[in-house]
Amino acid sequence: MAKWQEKRSFWTWGFESDEPTEAQRRKAAEAIAKRTGTFVEPPVVPDIEDIELRKSRIDVPSALAGWVSDEHEERALHTHGGHVTEILMALRGRFDNPPDAVAHPRDENELEATLEWADTNRYAVIPYGGGTTVVHGVSVPEAADGAVTIDMDRFNRVLEVDDISRAARIQAGVYGPDLEDALRPAGLTLRHFPQSFPWSTVGGWVATRSGGHYATNHTHIDDFVESTRMLTPRGWWESRRLPGSGAGPSPDRLVIGSEGILGIISECWLRLQKRPVFRASAGVVFPRWLAGGQAVRCIVQSKLWPANLRLLDPVEAAQSAGLDGQQALLIIGFESADIPQAQPMREAVELARECGGLIEDEHIRIDDGSGEATGRGGAVGAWRDAFIGVNAGATAGLGMLADTFETSITWDAFEDFDALVRERVGKALGSVLGDGSSLSCRFTHVYADGPAPYYSFSGPAVIGGEVAQWQEIKAAATEAVVEGGGTVTHHHAVGRMHREGWERQRPELFGKALAAVKREVDPNGILNAGVLLE
Ligand SMILES: Cc1cc2nc3c(=O)[nH]c(=O)nc-3n(C[C@H](O)[C@H](O)[C@H](O)COP(=O)(O)OP(=O)(O)OC[C@H]3O[C@@H](n4cnc5c(N)ncnc54)[C@H](O)[C@@H]3O)c2cc1C
Repeated sequence: MAKWQEKRSFWTWGFESDEPTEAQRRKAAEAIAKRTGTFVEPPVVPDIEDIELRKSRIDVPSALAGWVSDEHEERALHTHGGHVTEILMALRGRFDNPPDAVAHPRDENELEATLEWADTNRYAVIPYGGGTTVVHGVSVPEAADGAVTIDMDRFNRVLEVDDISRAARIQAGVYGPDLEDALRPAGLTLRHFPQSFPWSTVGGWVATRSGGHYATNHTHIDDFVESTRMLTPRGWWESRRLPGSGAGPSPDRLVIGSEGILGIISECWLRLQKRPVFRASAGVVFPRWLAGGQAVRCIVQSKLWPANLRLLDPVEAAQSAGLDGQQALLIIGFESADIPQAQPMREAVELARECGGLIEDEHIRIDDGSGEATGRGGAVGAWRDAFIGVNAGATAGLGMLADTFETSITWDAFEDFDALVRERVGKALGSVLGDGSSLSCRFTHVYADGPAPYYSFSGPAVIGGEVAQWQEIKAAATEAVVEGGGTVTHHHAVGRMHREGWERQRPELFGKALAAVKREVDPNGILNAGVLLE
């Protein structure tokens, strides 16, 4: 079944088929109890029909009734995004601020009619892709008197494939797996795989400047956007397909990362690639985390451009790849549609060894596309399974608070930055979650001038007090990241969660200029109030 036809879960990441079973939640509770010493019975998942919702404040006109509804289940399904605190709220039956109506426009006429209706009535509008936002990007603004969520799931087609230029015209609501299924027969791929790939959409990726899981080179969705088409309350904003252009500021650059405050992206042309055939992977062990960082810098600055160059600190290497807790792990991966990858892999491994990295040659895995890979690949497979299999629903409400924050920083500042973040966040974790908390880091993306460190924290939580505990830790993390010179987000977007931190990092005049653009295209301020701008 295509992803857009599947039923989304109303309480956890993904679709109903992704929901953890009772047995899986109990197993998670037992594992947490081993760490905290307290077994917490998994909370009962409420029935969606039993959830109490505020009465809808909107009368849906009959002319729009074919695709706009104020029905209970629709409103509940679109109340929360994907942040761990939202999963907790949903699991506890808390749906305090639902949208009043949900639209599923099937074409641009219906999209125009919906936006015009909302604008005339000054309803808040929330564009919605897969709802995987972890920065409160699809929440209803508190101050709204009426709110309409516009779910783009019926914009679910790849409209054209230009295999000469290698690009495709793709509607905004296409989910990751449906996109790849549509491109596969032509031997093409977008090759953009955020961790939320199965549950998120092309429109969401472009709106949030998502980052795929390839560590170097083409990794942000920005790199793939050829042109965009977006509906604003003042009309259409459409750019010309161009491989590159020096004609002034780029109209696409304002659309990419606009997080639904300027308009609703209906489709875009994205650049494609041939599907890779040649692959190589290796896991290199380092006795010290910072030595691993040094190796990453040498490899990325050598311009070998591995597809994967992911450094796990000793805590992460132990948790997700089974190492001893003392050593860091560097996962190196290469792939190409045209060129065998054994040689660049050998060069990258040599650079890693020069920085103190340890790997036996037999652990380098080379796949030349014949189906007969050589080498064992070491810890890489274990890490990949842990990365793909994640679902926060399994551990929600079990007395353990866990979340992540991600950033980027230039190499010259990285060492001091990492020490500052670990010190400040470590202190906050100690005082809020107490003994048994942990903080770890991996590089999700790396650039020639710096890494994108991704920190994960967890620790025993007070049942019912998790949100307040999370707020305190998050405030310490944001403070440390901004003070240390990093960005408040490398790929999770700004949303409402990072708005204040972003205000501190962006030029003040830029904020004013963005607000002026918003006033021009959205004079009544109906679109995603509180996201990016106050
Ligand atoms: C488990 C998990 C893993 C994740 N991993 C990654 C990762 O590896 N990389 C990464 O970048 N992010 C990641 N995220 C965050 C999230 O998946 C991304 O921000 C993603 O791009 C959101 O896509 P979506 O379709 O779900 O959009 P939504 O969550 O529905 O919306 C995101 C924002 O974009 C706006 N929006 C959505 N569609 C449109 C549209 N058509 N036009 C205008 N505005 C729109 C919404 O209003 C909202 O503000 C992860 C999230 C989860 C839960």
